[in-house]
Amino acid sequence: MPELPEVEIVRQSLNKKIKQKKVKKVIVRNKNLRIKIPKNFENFLKNKEIKGVKRYSKYLILYLPNNEYCLIHLGMSGTIHLLENHKKNYLTNASFYKSFFLPNKHNHVEIIFEGLKLVYNDPRRFGFFQIIRSKKLLKKKFDKLGPEPFQLKFNGEYIYSYFKKKKKNIKNFLLDQKFVSGIGNIYASEILFLCSINPVKKAFLLSREDCKKIELNSRKVLNYAIKKGGSSIRDFKNISGLKGNFQKNFQVYSREGLSCKRQKCSGVIKKKIISNRSTFFCNSCQK
Ligand SMILES: [Zn+2]
Repeated sequence: MPELPEVEIVRQSLNKKIKQKKVKKVIVRNKNLRIKIPKNFENFLKNKEIKGVKRYSKYLILYLPNNEYCLIHLGMSGTIHLLENHKKNYLTNASFYKSFFLPNKHNHVEIIFEGLKLVYNDPRRFGFFQIIRSKKLLKKKFDKLGPEPFQLKFNGEYIYSYFKKKKKNIKNFLLDQKFVSGIGNIYASEILFLCSINPVKKAFLLSREDCKKIELNSRKVLNYAIKKGGSSIRDFKNISGLKGNFQKNFQVYSREGLSCKRQKCSGVIKKKIISNRSTFFCNSCQK
């Protein structure tokens, strides 16, 4: 599943390629995504200039003129491919997630610009496109989501006061989009390792100092993943087509049974299923 770092990489690619470009034509081949593509979608986008591409949590936001927007969510398996005219044998994927090149099947939406087109591919069809017609409605859309780790609002004090009297474990909170949006399962394990906090620890037992560590390490882990080009376990490959080494950069994720990477720690990485999600942690240094 694409997580925040992958979505941020897609945003950067899109912003570079389609900002200030005018939509010439839209082709919808399959309307039945998680949310049905609106009836007037093709006409809505046609002749509009893309003012910029932003992101909130895992939503991509195409900024259009007159405070209108098009939201794109990649769901479980969505990828965006950018195909430039007269260019052959180059990578089309706007991220490192899944296939480098445009697959033959499941290309549901095409947005065509001068000399370039954007193709939305999604085998499982959990992604979606949405039209938002005002700034107010855009804000409302994200009202229920907690702050992103990059926002100032996500700080030690916020975390500490949020956790008061909360008996759920910390791992669950890192995946709770009302508390913080966009962390995702892989990164939650990595963050807790850096904080030396056991994933099953009840949130209310965390100290102010622990909460400060969660603030700083959440930012650190996501920034690092963005810098490394996003990650996805099975599908990550680097730009030259060789198998990427991002997995080697994980401290705990998918390292079950291996020894802890922390200096002077003789612990072993364990795997535990918490709320149906795999969680990895060191049995010695995470208390
Ligand atoms: Zn350890």
